[in-house]
Amino acid sequence: MKLATKLIHAGIEPDPSTGAIMTPIYQTSTYVQAAPGKNKGYEYARSQNPTRKVLEDACAAIENGKFGLCFSSGVAATDAVIKLLQPGDEVIACNDMYGGTYRLFTKVFEKFGIKFHYINMQDAANVKNFINANTKLIWIETPTNPLMNIIDIAAVSALAKGQNILVCVDNTFASPYLQNPLDLGADIVLHSATKYLGGHSDLIHGCLVINDADLREKLYFLQKSCGAVPGPQDCFLVLRGLKTLHLRMQRHCENGEKVAGFLRTHKKIDRVYWCGFEDHPGYDIAKKQMRGFGGMMSFELKDNSKEAVTKVLSSTKIFALAESLGGVESLINHPASMTHASIPREERLKNGLTDSLIRLSVGIEDIDDLIDDLQQAIG
Ligand SMILES: *Cc1c(COP(=O)(O)O)cnc(C)c1O
Repeated sequence: MKLATKLIHAGIEPDPSTGAIMTPIYQTSTYVQAAPGKNKGYEYARSQNPTRKVLEDACAAIENGKFGLCFSSGVAATDAVIKLLQPGDEVIACNDMYGGTYRLFTKVFEKFGIKFHYINMQDAANVKNFINANTKLIWIETPTNPLMNIIDIAAVSALAKGQNILVCVDNTFASPYLQNPLDLGADIVLHSATKYLGGHSDLIHGCLVINDADLREKLYFLQKSCGAVPGPQDCFLVLRGLKTLHLRMQRHCENGEKVAGFLRTHKKIDRVYWCGFEDHPGYDIAKKQMRGFGGMMSFELKDNSKEAVTKVLSSTKIFALAESLGGVESLINHPASMTHASIPREERLKNGLTDSLIRLSVGIEDIDDLIDDLQQAIG
């Protein structure tokens, strides 16, 4: 089955009791058993829920994986992956990543004795310099947030193979429409379904997709033991969002390309970060591992004073000034003070994330209106 068909049908069966075509919201905490231990596969809703099960199967199918596991947020899914590790284990992570992931690694897990190396992975071979006997996990985000760097998933995964090192790819920015990390050799794919999968800025949700049955058992154990499970209503909303992912992504890509082109030729703009430009350093890898370039981008003004940056951020009328991304509506964001404020300023600057960087999540509105809006805001 091709992606568009999977997005609409994968995991979904008519409800056995009524034939309802849409998956019911099973709003229940427990399930009646015929005799002790004799049940229909459902015992208690932290461990299993039928609405969640359908979504988990759908997530697995669209990422070309065998198993899906859903969580109450993207960060909760990340938390479960790191809990696979033991004190003394080491993680190699890309140096440009979602601020909340960095916060979880540095502020929560470091104190349990897990060591994180934040490195430039644009040259995959650099990863080799940090692998040692304690390395247990490689953490990739590509395109990176917010600098839109590209990491070669197949090359990094090849370095980890046979060494008992897991590779986890946060695929939130690309979505399964643009990129499938398991096909490129990764072990775990993570999504903040809050973003493109849900697509309508109306929920918080996360998921993991894996192929290996043992790894699935370990992660399922953590899901039920730690308890960061999503409610059935949110699972239903993600399922509904998935049905139009391909249509939305197609438009995000079209609009993204036009907005990136507009910004790039604008006389007041210094630099645009978008992985679809042929002179982007990761363009060839992006072309190889992605099916399009998406609607996420960042830019810097020539006048990078605080006043000029604030003026643009406060003047858009269609682009809403807000954290998050991947919804149908366009958003504008200031990473240094918003999404990435939890990364210390020196760290941000070291990686090229300046105080004047502006990030856009280009939505699916009419392209003329979006460009007019940016034009009037930039002046
Ligand atoms: C938002 C986001 C997360 C965290 O997901 P939540 O659903 O907000 O917990 C992780 N990774 C990326 C790339 C994100 O954009």
